[in-house]
Amino acid sequence: MWGAAAKKGSGSAASGVPAPPARIKLLIVDDSNIVRRRIERSQQFEELRVVGTAGNGVDALAIFAKTDPDVVTMDLTMPMMDGIECIARMVELKPTVRILVISALADKATAVEAMEKGANGFLNKPFTDRQLNEAIDELIR
Ligand SMILES: [Mg+2]
Repeated sequence: MWGAAAKKGSGSAASGVPAPPARIKLLIVDDSNIVRRRIERSQQFEELRVVGTAGNGVDALAIFAKTDPDVVTMDLTMPMMDGIECIARMVELKPTVRILVISALADKATAVEAMEKGANGFLNKPFTDRQLNEAIDELIR
């Protein structure tokens, strides 16, 4: 599924150099600037490319429509539009999108609801870089 973008226009087949790994587009959604930067910095997959960051669900949907991400990290508690609604809308727009909810698990019912709306994984705040990378790895393998 990820291969289509990478095959387009690389044009280096004649040199015999293997094609670079497909770039998986990542969108980071969290109303905390600190958390957004933390996720951006700690992701260690060279095949991932951050195509956008958003601080609320409304901005996230606008960037989603523009950049067509493959993977999204999603906060739940945010102004304007929360993560639950944002997940539902994204899945409607692109059923194949992989969404990792990153949130403080204050309320188990909310996590369950997120999964029902189409989220694919859950990472509890606070998290370590290793936990984040493992959670993303599970999502994209
Ligand atoms: Mg939040």
